Amino acid sequence: MKKIIVIGGGISGLFTALILSKYGYKLTVLEANRQIGGGLHTFKRGNTEFETGIHIIGGFQKGQPMYKLCSYLGIMDKLHIKESFGNTSDTFHIGGDNKQYHLGAGKEAFTNSLIEYFPNSKEEILNYINDLYEICDNIPLYSLKFRAINYMSEDMLIPINKFIESRISDKKLQNVLVWNNPLYAGVKNETPIYIHALVSKMFIEGSSKFINGSQQLADALVNEIEKLGGNVLTKAKVNKICVEDKAIKSLSTEDGKDYEADYFISSISPKLLLNLLPKEKLKGMFWKRISKMKDTYSAFSIFIDLKPNTFEYINNAYYYQDNYEDTWNHGDYDIKEWPKGYLLVNPPVENQGKYAHKIIINAVMNYSDVEKWEDSQTGRRSEEYEIFKQECTNKLLDKVEIAFPEIRNCINKIYASTPLTIKDYLNNNRGALYGVQKDGNHMEDSYLTPKTKYTNLFLTGQNINLHGILGAPITSLITCSEFVDLEELLSNINK
Ligand SMILES: Cc1cc2nc3c(=O)[nH]c(=O)nc-3n(C[C@H](O)[C@H](O)[C@H](O)COP(=O)(O)OP(=O)(O)OC[C@H]3O[C@@H](n4cnc5c(N)ncnc54)[C@H](O)[C@@H]3O)c2cc1C
Repeated sequence: MKKIIVIGGGISGLFTALILSKYGYKLTVLEANRQIGGGLHTFKRGNTEFETGIHIIGGFQKGQPMYKLCSYLGIMDKLHIKESFGNTSDTFHIGGDNKQYHLGAGKEAFTNSLIEYFPNSKEEILNYINDLYEICDNIPLYSLKFRAINYMSEDMLIPINKFIESRISDKKLQNVLVWNNPLYAGVKNETPIYIHALVSKMFIEGSSKFINGSQQLADALVNEIEKLGGNVLTKAKVNKICVEDKAIKSLSTEDGKDYEADYFISSISPKLLLNLLPKEKLKGMFWKRISKMKDTYSAFSIFIDLKPNTFEYINNAYYYQDNYEDTWNHGDYDIKEWPKGYLLVNPPVENQGKYAHKIIINAVMNYSDVEKWEDSQTGRRSEEYEIFKQECTNKLLDKVEIAFPEIRNCINKIYASTPLTIKDYLNNNRGALYGVQKDGNHMEDSYLTPKTKYTNLFLTGQNINLHGILGAPITSLITCSEFVDLEELLSNINK
């Protein structure tokens, strides 16, 4: 039985490990954190459990990619998921225009809702949505269909704003169509349309939320890996990789243990992987490219434990920004004027009733705003940092009050996290929300294949291809195709 070690127990590492376990490999997952899951893990304050990362999800309705994949892996019936749409898939609120766009759920309803807001753009909207869906059909593995996995046509790499501007003439509509930019950290003239298409289609077709938190997905994956004889170890931070000739020989963890295997798969930030490899071996172009990759921005988040029966549960996600043009400026702000917007989500509980129990609000923030405190440790940071956090919390609540004037009266307890928290808890590079920032003009600088310069070291995870609840597992499939027959795997998943 061939042994594989996966570095990192986030969604990508766990999906990769479970798929390969099903194919008879002996898997060990090494996770740095005390809790498994990476962006899936949750934390408790008092009796309230909050999600650190993934809280709006897509692709879980019957027949959709995550439903099929999780069914194949035997975990779909273990997941408690609530559809987070009714008539509306998402609400997009532009404060400066005092306008809320309630975007319909489902292709037809979404299209019709846009046509209602922008009747003069009807033809353009219809064509745009069809083009967007066509792009999705061509994203390798998006529909779990067998096809070339490393091919992206030029049409798919056009920057999002250029793609939209070439099809839509109304300026407001151009920005409304990118309402969900904070879910992929899109940058003007750079981020390729296929990323926007993947995320948008997922939410147009109706998003969902985990009932009682995202940790359940990580736990379900671990259970299955262990049932198949694999090991999932936490508090196992890899701090050194030993190389012999052109292959990885072993790796060590912070607690002084050594691990050997036939193959190694890294799901962590490739930049952080560089720190683990012997420096003298990192001279070629491949490694230089990695060291130059740009990261996506980070976020400041507040987690609110609500007073009972005070804040009506909002089923869909609520996006707010000051002005239309802010769509493209989320990461470009003066801290004195921060924040320009936010994304508000009510995570549901079992038998969710009329009133919400908790709120998570994320506002884009750059790592540079907290970098000066990066050498301090969680729980032992300076008073200056705590004051910064408090000020940011107040400023964010001020902004939230525009749409929800009573918000402050609904708070029982409130907690905040910064890009430093994300960096420390997810062990990632500079708190990047979605890993490496993709640039359609220079894909060679922002996209990696699973193969590395070492014969038995492979990559997976959001940094190398796609991010998020659907993107990361698709990336896992691409990595698994280095070990198993992809056509057969997809046919099994689609059964
Ligand atoms: C605040 C926030 C909100 C988000 N919201 C959403 C959302 O609503 N919907 C959505 O779809 N996506 C969301 N995302 C994105 C999503 O969380 C990520 O795309 C996804 O979790 C990436 O999975 P991954 O496995 O590639 O990486 P990660 O989840 O980061 O997993 C990597 C793992 O590797 C571990 N690790 C790192 N270094 C080492 C080492 N040396 N040794 C051992 N282990 C190591 C880390 O601890 C981590 O557990 C959000 C992200 C953040 C940060």
